[in-house]
Amino acid sequence: MIRPLALLLLLWSPLAALAASCEQSFQRKVLQTRAAGRTVLFTFPSAPGPAAADRRESEHLDWVRANTPWNARQILVNHDNILRDALTRAPPGSASRPSLEKSIRKDERILSGAIGRFRAPSCMDQVAFREFLQLVDLRKSPQEFLAYVHSQGMTKVMIADFDDKPDGVIGVRPSPRLLAEQARLQAEGWTYHAHLHNHPFMFNSSTGDIGAIVPSAPDIGSYKAGNPDVAWITNGVEVFEVKRAEYQQLE
Ligand SMILES: [Zn+2]
Repeated sequence: MIRPLALLLLLWSPLAALAASCEQSFQRKVLQTRAAGRTVLFTFPSAPGPAAADRRESEHLDWVRANTPWNARQILVNHDNILRDALTRAPPGSASRPSLEKSIRKDERILSGAIGRFRAPSCMDQVAFREFLQLVDLRKSPQEFLAYVHSQGMTKVMIADFDDKPDGVIGVRPSPRLLAEQARLQAEGWTYHAHLHNHPFMFNSSTGDIGAIVPSAPDIGSYKAGNPDVAWITNGVEVFEVKRAEYQQLE
């Protein structure tokens, strides 16, 4: 008779062999180094397994948990309440009303579940996030990285800009190196699969808005211009994911 434990091992081992851990499943190549940072290409030959949080990610998570008990959805509810409050104080006909109303409509569609979803981080967004943490301590300096994921068959390639520009405008534009690499991949027949960037937490914000992971108007503009299959926004704790058919409905 086969022992239950032996049977379990027998069934489990082939599955474990198939799903290599995230850390074992990719190659990393620095394409360009510059004063503020670098552009990096990551190759994922097959569907990567789950990632374990590294030391910097764990410290980031501890810092978030020390500052808020809220999840991404609760942070968005708070953000939406702040916008609604601002709208009640904006005089009729004022210039700020249309953009406030537009943002509130977007938040409502996300909170209702009609557009996008919140999920746990996965290998690719964690790999990018931890690379960024090597350059920028988000606890001291709220900044963003930008990554484009391309796919061909089972293979995925992620090209990303990581820069430490503490005095720069929040929100990033792709570097010339990133754009050149994207053009090369698309010329070789790769599909633009995912747009990925981060929104940092801002616990010192004067409005009490601590940083929602929903696409800004410029984010939506770049999704529509680039037309990826899907877009991800991470804060290192959770990810907001929105598919093409969904972001096309956003204003
Ligand atoms: Zn953004």
